[in-house]
Amino acid sequence: MQYFSTNHQSPEVDFKQATINGQAPDKGLYFPERIPAIPKELIENITQYSNEEIAYQVLQPYVGSSIPEDILRNIIAETINFDIPLVKITDTIFSLELYHGPTLAFKDVGARFMSRCLGYFVKEQHKKVTVLVATSGDTGGAVANGFYGVEGIEVVILYPSGKVSSVQEKQLTTLGKNIHALEVAGTFDDCQLMVKQAFTDEALNERLFLTSANSINVARWLPQQLYYFFAYKQWMDKNNPPVISVPSGNFGNICAGILAHIGGLPVQHFIAACNANDVVPSFMQTERYEPKQSVATISNAMDVGNPSNFIRILEIFHHKFKDLQNVLSSCSISDDETRTTLKSVYHTKQYLLDPHGAVGFFALQNYIQQHPDQKGIVLETAHPVKFYDVVEPVIGEAVPIPATIREQMQLEKKSIQINADGDLLKAFLLELAVNQ
Ligand SMILES: *Cc1c(COP(=O)(O)O)cnc(C)c1O
Repeated sequence: MQYFSTNHQSPEVDFKQATINGQAPDKGLYFPERIPAIPKELIENITQYSNEEIAYQVLQPYVGSSIPEDILRNIIAETINFDIPLVKITDTIFSLELYHGPTLAFKDVGARFMSRCLGYFVKEQHKKVTVLVATSGDTGGAVANGFYGVEGIEVVILYPSGKVSSVQEKQLTTLGKNIHALEVAGTFDDCQLMVKQAFTDEALNERLFLTSANSINVARWLPQQLYYFFAYKQWMDKNNPPVISVPSGNFGNICAGILAHIGGLPVQHFIAACNANDVVPSFMQTERYEPKQSVATISNAMDVGNPSNFIRILEIFHHKFKDLQNVLSSCSISDDETRTTLKSVYHTKQYLLDPHGAVGFFALQNYIQQHPDQKGIVLETAHPVKFYDVVEPVIGEAVPIPATIREQMQLEKKSIQINADGDLLKAFLLELAVNQ
């Protein structure tokens, strides 16, 4: 499989090179030259396949000859060695719980897959790699956890100071070793901009081999397709496929779902559920894409003003707006609506959502009211305990904290505070290179 750049100014590369590069040299995103069709047999008999076999069949065509079969099967087994259950909330709405991995959010799957692929490629190349990543909250912890102690790889995480939850912050600032946390006085968009600037800095790239662990990296983006297959495997009514509502920020997750659907996975419709950051909901109304400064909300992992992966969604539909509209709806949900949803679902259905899941639930509920013959799945992207500071006052009860998290909360935060200035990041990276 070859990958081209969405800017069409860079050479095509294979999976290995696309993973190592992160972003294409022309600043575009890598996109597969074709979308492989999923074997019909797999879809029809999906309940008879193990998750690992499904994952191998789905991902192998994208990986191609970059990783031998036995190693890819191992990577997959390590990536998905936790439950991804589909849980009934109401007669028409189910929750796919993606938060049973080590850092309690769905990003564990992508981060684990990518870190293991990159670890394999680096070993083969005898080259030191620096992974640079901006996080709005959950990516940082997942990437830190995935890469912790991986030989030959240093990880630098930028996060917006005061804009991530306390659990999220501890997950990315307490590991140490090859994990470096930069606490930026600014927003997530500032962090993302600093990272993008570093990737295009020639002097820096001569000294260091930089790559990105953001969802622009194909090795993080593509394995997210698996959630949708695992959801369908557990879906009872195969003749009436689910509407799937995806809490969306940078649009990597939902884009992977749409890719799976184009490859042949039955899905009725996709809903991109956003918070007040409504660039895509506006686009779906007006067909005009206007990036904005992100605003802070209680579903902070979706506070993105210029979602990187949206370009890939347009690419899937060959930039045909009508085709996109048939598959995708999008809406913007306020913090008040999020809180009300969280509270009422907890008290009437005894199901505790996290703020991101609540955004997705509310969007799905609205959609089903307008399409009463349909049923749906909300992707529950994080464990509510990750956002206990938001959740507890809303439900008026304490959320039990798992022991592993309680221990982590006792550890000392180790971050390096810097201003939102690309030159400061450059200086830090050069210093890191000297010390390697
Ligand atoms: C990252 C994240 C999102 C948004 O996912 P994208 O792929 O960036 O759209 C939603 N919810 C949670 C909990 C997240 O961590």
